[in-house]
Amino acid sequence: MADKSFFIDTTKCTACRGCQIACKQWNMNPGTKTTQRGSHQNPEDLSYVTYKLVRFSELEVDGKPRWYFFPDQCRHCIYPPCKMAADEKAPGAVILDTQTRAVIYDPAVKVSPEAFKAIREICPFDIPRYDAKLSRMSKCTMCIDRVSEGLIPACVKTCPTGAMQFGDRSTIRKMAVERLAEVRKIYRRASLINPEAVRVIFLVKDYPEKYYEYASTHDAKGITRKMAFKQLLHPVCVFEDWIG
Ligand code: SF4
Ligand code: SF4
Repeated sequence: MADKSFFIDTTKCTACRGCQIACKQWNMNPGTKTTQRGSHQNPEDLSYVTYKLVRFSELEVDGKPRWYFFPDQCRHCIYPPCKMAADEKAPGAVILDTQTRAVIYDPAVKVSPEAFKAIREICPFDIPRYDAKLSRMSKCTMCIDRVSEGLIPACVKTCPTGAMQFGDRSTIRKMAVERLAEVRKIYRRASLINPEAVRVIFLVKDYPEKYYEYASTHDAKGITRKMAFKQLLHPVCVFEDWIG
């Protein structure tokens, strides 16, 4: 089996949250009790039982209100910093699947609060979550149980607009580059976020930080947020070379 990747084209996302619900259902995760916070984002954040969350960012652009939708999830990094931290602090808690290259967690491995702190802090996208009572971490698994049986992840299967795609990395890369060229004809700021470093490639039509603080490894000033990731990105993440 070839290594896999996702392509998430946020220009096609209507924030229906079908992917978020499908993720809950497939993983048999319970719903989360929430309160009205004046936002359509619901629940407020990722959690031990919420691996996928459609983030809503409401901004004023050129005097008009704008919504930026971002279906957030683990990026299944090519060289996952979370695994580096887990290998040291909680061996076996994070595993790289040899076939798909999915970054998965082992629910049987107990993780101490100190180890989890190190794992979460090193993730440039602030993804892993923890249940302190169970001493276990969790996050998106790339639906490894489905994918290893030849199916696509539940979130991708349910997306009604085609915003989410999944397949062999070579096919997904080509798809992402071609779609970016198309979108850039209208939105000159459009980009793919960290495409050489992750297996979940987001296409955004505006600066990533407008969507979400942790959408990209870089902050709004273009500075790499995590030193470990900076080292891992060099020299592979030369995005402008990649798209030609
Ligand atoms: S996004 Fe975070 S949790 Fe996911 S593979 Fe990368 S470092 Fe690990
Ligand atoms: S299912 Fe597709 S369109 Fe709906 S929120 Fe998820 S990515 Fe967006």
